[in-house]
Amino acid sequence: MLKLITGLSVVTVCLAAVVGAQGGAAPNDAVRLKSDAIHAKVLTLDTHVDMRNGDYGVLTPGQKVDLVKMQQGGMKGVFLAVFVGQRQAFDAAAYKAAFDSAMRQFDSLDTLTQKARPEMCAFAVSPAEVERVAKTGKRIIMTGVENGYPVGEDLANVKAFYDRGARYISLTHSGHNQIGDSSSDRNPPRSGGLSAFGRQVVAEMNRLGMMVDVSHSAPTTFWDVVKISKAPIIASHSGCKAVNDVDRNLDDDQLRAVAKGGGVVQIVALGSYLKADSPERAEAVRKLREEIGMQPGGRGRMGGGPPAQPQTPEQQAEAQTRRAAYMARMQEIDARFPPATLKDFADHLDHAVKVAGVDHVGIGTDFDGGGGILGFNDASEAPNVTEELVRRGYSEQDIAKIWGGNLLRVWRGVEKVAAREQKTAR
Ligand SMILES: [Zn+2]
Repeated sequence: MLKLITGLSVVTVCLAAVVGAQGGAAPNDAVRLKSDAIHAKVLTLDTHVDMRNGDYGVLTPGQKVDLVKMQQGGMKGVFLAVFVGQRQAFDAAAYKAAFDSAMRQFDSLDTLTQKARPEMCAFAVSPAEVERVAKTGKRIIMTGVENGYPVGEDLANVKAFYDRGARYISLTHSGHNQIGDSSSDRNPPRSGGLSAFGRQVVAEMNRLGMMVDVSHSAPTTFWDVVKISKAPIIASHSGCKAVNDVDRNLDDDQLRAVAKGGGVVQIVALGSYLKADSPERAEAVRKLREEIGMQPGGRGRMGGGPPAQPQTPEQQAEAQTRRAAYMARMQEIDARFPPATLKDFADHLDHAVKVAGVDHVGIGTDFDGGGGILGFNDASEAPNVTEELVRRGYSEQDIAKIWGGNLLRVWRGVEKVAAREQKTAR
């Protein structure tokens, strides 16, 4: 999930459908035939998709990921993230509301995998389970928690999330929280990195076998995590600052540090992180936001207007209506000032590979949380990514690593550290 500007990229859907795949290759193109064969073989995992309320078992318009689109695009597995927006209240009642919201989302995941669509998908909480489900041909559903805010100040909640199947926690989101500072909060730092409690959270995640996710973390938080984590870390959905200088992306030192620790950076497919808006586009967006009454710099799901996490059904409905209006207008803006494309995405991926090495790069789209670009706008377009990688000279082995091999290696490393930690504690 993103913050403000990112609502924009939600809209590239229809445009992409009209223009078609960025590669532009004819279906019988030799490269495409080769890339399709590779795509069918490799374990394709996406580490960051926001969970939506729609039916995952049918083609659901307006939703970039559902089980049908995953099948169409040869996407084998996806982390459907449990997301709780950052609020400014740091008291027991606010923490409880956030925790309850997370628990309801875990319930939805259980419903999806156990009651609604067990014939189409299955939940996996370990690399071994991922591989087992992959063999059945069902889609693999995994989960992580985006934003450590719902952990509150109770370390036991980390285990509560682990017990519900979460295998990563993104420590922060759009604002500083009780765990650490965010990359996107313009207020003065709250902890200057990880808080004392945040250090305990990282240690507990290491002990349990949860991947520590530094996407959305401030650099200070990032470097604290690098210093204290006993296990490899991930950035579940981030881009490269050297390619596009925005606060959500990682600089080259950070890319190298993740690699040095054995971790992985999952490149995000969110337009405004990949490519700077032209002044014309920025102005059009600013005007639209002003018109709709969204405050610049706000922290809502689409940046400003609605509360980050609508609490009542009425608030939810109102937020939906506003989002629909916003998205329709954004579509017009996208048509006039085209946003990022698959080529921009691949440029970030190339850069990360150059700096961190091919063993430390993967893919985390942020679909249904703002992700989606021309040519890679929903799960059904995943084969375009493989085609672009083949065109750029990546081998089948490299592509297998990028699409999921690296992530599974890191996850196994995290499990190993947990086993060791639990053994020494006994
Ligand atoms: Zn996010």
